[in-house]
Amino acid sequence: MAVQTIVAAETNSPAPFGPAVALSCRECGERFPLSPVFACEACFGPLEVAYDLPSGDPEGLKKQIAAGPDNIWRYAPLLPVPADVTTKPNLNPGFTKLVKADNLARELGITGGLHIKDDSGNPTHSFKDRVVAIALEAARTFGLTTLSCSSTGNLAGAVGAAAARAGFRSCVFIPHDLEAGKVVMAAVYGGELVGIEGNYDDVNRFCSELIGDPIGEGWGFVNVNLRPYYGEGSKTLAYEICEQLGWRLPDNLVIPIASGSQLTKIDKGLQELIKLGLVEDKPYKIYGAQAEGCSPVSAAFKAGHDVVRPVKPDTIAKSLAIGNPADGPYVLDIARRTGGAVEDVNDEQIVDAIKLLARTEGIFAETAGGVTVGVLRKLIESGQLDPAAETVVLNTGDGLKTLDAVAPTTGPTATIRPTLDAFRAAGLAGS
Ligand SMILES: *Cc1c(COP(=O)(O)O)cnc(C)c1O
Repeated sequence: MAVQTIVAAETNSPAPFGPAVALSCRECGERFPLSPVFACEACFGPLEVAYDLPSGDPEGLKKQIAAGPDNIWRYAPLLPVPADVTTKPNLNPGFTKLVKADNLARELGITGGLHIKDDSGNPTHSFKDRVVAIALEAARTFGLTTLSCSSTGNLAGAVGAAAARAGFRSCVFIPHDLEAGKVVMAAVYGGELVGIEGNYDDVNRFCSELIGDPIGEGWGFVNVNLRPYYGEGSKTLAYEICEQLGWRLPDNLVIPIASGSQLTKIDKGLQELIKLGLVEDKPYKIYGAQAEGCSPVSAAFKAGHDVVRPVKPDTIAKSLAIGNPADGPYVLDIARRTGGAVEDVNDEQIVDAIKLLARTEGIFAETAGGVTVGVLRKLIESGQLDPAAETVVLNTGDGLKTLDAVAPTTGPTATIRPTLDAFRAAGLAGS
């Protein structure tokens, strides 16, 4: 009788992880059951989600996707989530704009076409809503009750908001010296926010200790013990870009690097689309972007090294300030395998690029967007990126969260008395 009840329950509710079948080690390939773990028991390599994807009918799959909602759940058949995911409270991020950036292309001398994938349009104004949405579903399935993270700012806000909506307790950890916009965004949703006296790498170490302690029981750290699920959220950027291009691969993608998770999972997403026949197979190049003040991956790329030597971050691009990036070696592999590169820009170039993007396309990016656009410009100037090829550059966050970056060099053209004479005297009349 009991057995029959269990069988009935299983057939009535959709598979909790959809097409996902296991966790697999990226180093040794060992497989593990889907659970809240992130490192291989055999070799300590990072685990990722492995699938049995719905192959064989690409046109049917495209139709199914097109009939789905205008958010990441349209790709539920390719994600580790149950088929009824849309019935659960979630922030439903994604399907952000892919903006054809003709003005910026002209300014940079790009003739092959340029698009900005503008993820500032997500619910908490950064790409992090994508990764949190998937981690949240995993936390629900595993019965975890507290949602947590170590964050460079945007993730804390995304976790706080998602937890509030889904009815989880949240407790998030950030370096104590983040931008005011990031701190307010992380706190406003009512969860607990803890500033740690140290940089992101200190915060991350602290969180790893917390997970190993009885205090951390029942906690889902989206980017630690739920990291394999979290990472899958970034694949949706690859899916959206290709779908929005009319189910086509671009030639080049320029992607920011913090831990490197986003870049590696965008590549994973593109590979899946090729394997499933949703896009025609052709070469594409992936370029990674870092701030000079935190450029361990860029330094390793330029030196031809396979290992990434950790650094102490010192940059205005705080959302990318991870000195010891977990996915750094995989980023190097992907940049080299695809014929791309990893490049960095300094703080002044980041600010210039934020203003360039705003002036040419009306998009106000946070410092991470300044890093990608600045790196795009540098790659063209140095001949590393072909201007005759089609390029997609990511803006992963909203400039309103990092006002301090541009405030010192941006302001009113003039401040005048409310008279025409004063306006004329300011030299702004005519022309
Ligand atoms: C977190 C973040 C990234 C990239 O993070 P990864 O750790 O490399 O996945 C990029 N841009 C912004 C704005 C971010 O907050």
